[in-house]
Amino acid sequence: MLLGTGASRGVLSDRLNWLQKIDCLRKDVVKHSNKRPTYHLTKKSIELYANGLMAMNWERKYFSTPNLNALQLTHNICGQHFWPVMECQHCNKEITLDEVSFRPGPGASRDQRITKTRRRSSASSIDQQLGKTLYRNLINLLGDRWTANIIALSFHGLTRFDEFHQELPVATNILTDRLKYLVTENIFDQHPYQQNPPRYDYQLTNKGRDLFPYFVTLLLWGDRWCARQQGKPMLLQHDSCGMPLEAQVLCNQCGIPLIATEVQFKI
Ligand SMILES: [Zn+2]
Ligand SMILES: [Zn+2]
Repeated sequence: MLLGTGASRGVLSDRLNWLQKIDCLRKDVVKHSNKRPTYHLTKKSIELYANGLMAMNWERKYFSTPNLNALQLTHNICGQHFWPVMECQHCNKEITLDEVSFRPGPGASRDQRITKTRRRSSASSIDQQLGKTLYRNLINLLGDRWTANIIALSFHGLTRFDEFHQELPVATNILTDRLKYLVTENIFDQHPYQQNPPRYDYQLTNKGRDLFPYFVTLLLWGDRWCARQQGKPMLLQHDSCGMPLEAQVLCNQCGIPLIATEVQFKI
């Protein structure tokens, strides 16, 4: 992965914020409740099918639940039970974080938020209602805007508290809390790089890195449906083939791109 010299650092998290600002993502806050706000998609949801499949992949890999284990997907086109895979449209290689680089596009902008508000801890008890959904763990992780942004920045190669703090308008106590939460959730491994005072590097675990396809599908959808006049805010390149990143989510049995209406879910 190519790392920018600073210019490209915030673009992925800026992108998530921007999607929210222009109402492609909607934030729901439950009034008079301790529930964490959640982000919802407001339109073009059919096009987000690939994103949902990537969320399911991640959940199924890291959280074994009776519901998820029993889930069977059948592809109407080939008639097989299948699993979705994300590949580069140009070279047909599976897409991983290591082989994608980012740089700001013509529509890039900096994060302008100035709100440094104090919030309660993210490590609250799991919302019982979310237990009914297939993506409970992913929603729990990414429903908080700071954790979503911290993970996005870590895809750009940021690993240290000060680096995250420089990019995000977040209070230090909240950032400390979120990093601790992400370590507890095994998204980051914590490695000391300084003893006195103690300082840590936060490195993505495999579980954290495997969130990348989920983010990629969300970004590519944003480019398609929420386009800015100035152009794309971020340009992604597949380093394996050198082409602009165009991902497709395919049936692992027949290799045909998956469409919602051609897949049967059975739980
Ligand atoms: Zn490629
Ligand atoms: Zn198939």
